[in-house]
Amino acid sequence: MDQAATDLQSVLDRAADGGRITPEEALGLYRSAPLHALGAAADAVRRRRYAGVEHIATYIIERNINYTNACVTACKFCAFFAAPKSDKVWVRDLDDILRRCAETVALGGTQIMFQGGHHPDFGVEYYEESFSAIKKAYPQLVIHSLGASEVEHMARISKVGVEEAIRRIHAAGLDSFAGAGAELLPARPRKAIAPLKESGERWLEIMEIAHGLGVESTTTMLMGTGETNAERIEHLRMIRDVQDRTGGFRAFIPYTYQPNNNALKGQTQATVFEYLRMIAIARIFLDNVAHIQGSWLTTGKDIGQLSLHYGADDLGSVMLEENVVSSAGAKHRSNRMELLELIRGAGRVPAQRATTYEHLVVHDDPANDPVDDHVVSHLSSIAIEGGTAHPELKLIDAG
Ligand code: SF4
Repeated sequence: MDQAATDLQSVLDRAADGGRITPEEALGLYRSAPLHALGAAADAVRRRRYAGVEHIATYIIERNINYTNACVTACKFCAFFAAPKSDKVWVRDLDDILRRCAETVALGGTQIMFQGGHHPDFGVEYYEESFSAIKKAYPQLVIHSLGASEVEHMARISKVGVEEAIRRIHAAGLDSFAGAGAELLPARPRKAIAPLKESGERWLEIMEIAHGLGVESTTTMLMGTGETNAERIEHLRMIRDVQDRTGGFRAFIPYTYQPNNNALKGQTQATVFEYLRMIAIARIFLDNVAHIQGSWLTTGKDIGQLSLHYGADDLGSVMLEENVVSSAGAKHRSNRMELLELIRGAGRVPAQRATTYEHLVVHDDPANDPVDDHVVSHLSSIAIEGGTAHPELKLIDAG
């Protein structure tokens, strides 16, 4: 082994033993460590963290509910939004939203992700009304939704501070923030793909305020829009620094840019190897974030399964409805039975989890598996013209 390889291995060994690594060391590993060695070290970190339950990998059943596609922010990677005056704009009314919540409950879903554009008229009051109506009708549903960008926008519309906005929507029923809008936090790549969004520092500042108010969150990263490796590691550093102060990020969820129907026109994309390296380096570097989520939606089921060997402990969700990432080209679908098989194929025991990661059902005996073939992910099922609803499930029509 030459000196450079020896140095990389000694950093990997230190990380696998539970030591913290610097951003410079993370960049070195991300660029140059052999893929398998990187994955093995990340898996060692995961097993150490989850000693006793390291044989389990989790999933959740949820529904994304898109309340409007109108958006004033016009991110260049986004295939979902419509300019507010466009004839393509739609807004879902509260009765429709509540019916979608009813279906979610009927199918065993535990969480909804309320997700939409930055509508020019939707201030804090809109979210208060929506969340309180959902919680009144379905108190068992966890509202894990929105992120700092929506908070910034709604506070501006209502002319209040972000702290007041967070307090009010939390009181109305928001349980936790989904961490949407992190995209890429460093300034150069963020400006290139989302020039009208708040800065990465501001996004983190709002999340820090939320954590201080007792509203925890997950956090995300959009990979593959032309950012450098150094910028990817800087994104992780910015998250880790805030997490050292708040401890409020429950999970880190990287996903890959989808190239269809958006202004970036698919000029760059992350490869599956870059994605697996990111899962692994995140598990190693983010020693203060509990969970790393692998994604099958944007990278495919095989890569989702592999991510469980690269440090991921969770495989995301059966999404009973998804319209945002799928409208940019992500066409992978799955259902609960398939997710159980994927997890078992990785040598792990599947467990349905709650939003807060407690195990709700551990599927330790395949003979007792649920036989619910309606628990299926629907991509572009409703809101997007030409979407594909599962034929056996009478999902609500957009009209
Ligand atoms: S990503 Fe969100 S904020 Fe950006 S254009 Fe799409 S809907 Fe609007």
